[in-house]
Amino acid sequence: MSKNTFIVIPDDFKGFNLDSFCVPKHYEDSLETVLIPYGIIHDRIERLARDISLEIGQEPLVALCVLKGGYKFFTDLLDKVNLYNQYSSDSVPIAVDFIRLKSYEDDKSTGVVQVIGIQDLCTLKGKNVLVVEDIIDTGRTMMKLLKLLETYQPKTVKVASLVVKRTEHSSGYRPDYCGFEVPAKFIVGYAIDYNEHFRDLNHICVISDYGKQKFGS
Ligand code: 5GP
Repeated sequence: MSKNTFIVIPDDFKGFNLDSFCVPKHYEDSLETVLIPYGIIHDRIERLARDISLEIGQEPLVALCVLKGGYKFFTDLLDKVNLYNQYSSDSVPIAVDFIRLKSYEDDKSTGVVQVIGIQDLCTLKGKNVLVVEDIIDTGRTMMKLLKLLETYQPKTVKVASLVVKRTEHSSGYRPDYCGFEVPAKFIVGYAIDYNEHFRDLNHICVISDYGKQKFGS
C-alpha cells in the first residue's frame, strides 16, 4: 500500500448509534450501527483525491470503476480529482471506463468471481489505469481482475479501494490507495449492497442479523 495514511477502525469500535444519524426508514430495523458516517467518507475521499492527483503525474489516466459497489466512491473520487485538476497549474486528462464483477451471494463469497459486464477494454493498452473498487476482503476478486487487466497490456495499474477488511482469510493483497481499514464485519451502504439492497443508504453501516434474514435470498 502507498505511504498514504488510511484510517484504521479498531475491532473494539462499537460504531455510532443509529439514532444519532438520518437513516432511511426502510432500513432502520436492519442495521446494527453506523460504522463510517457519510461526512467522514467524503472528507477521507477528499484527501485520497489529493494524494492520487499528486502521484499520477502528467500522463493521461483511465479511471476504471468496478460496478456496482464502486460507483459512489468512483463518482465522488473523480469529482474531487477533477476539482484538483481545475485549480492546479498542471492538469491531467482523465477518461473513464466500467467493469462489473460479482462474487457474493447474501453475505458469503461464492468463491467464483464472475465478470458480468465487460466493456472493450482494449482501450486500456499502453495507458495508466486507476481501478476504483468499493471493498477488498480476501483480495481474491482484485487479484483476479488485475490478472485479467494484464492481458490488455496497460502501461501501469494502480488500485484505490475505499475499504479494506481485516480478515484472517486475506490473500495478503493490499491496494495502492485505501480509505479505511475495517473489522471483519459485513458492511453495507454508500453503494455497497446486500443482495442489491442498501445502495441507497449514505453511511457505511454494519448489517444486523435481522437485516440479513429480511433481505437474504
Ligand atoms: P474479496 O474477493 O476481496 O474477498 O471480496 C471482494 C468483494 O466481496 C467486494 O467487491 C464485495 O462485493 C464483496 N464483499 C466483501 N466484504 C463485503 C462486505 O462486508 N459487505 C458487502 N456488501 N460486500 C462485501
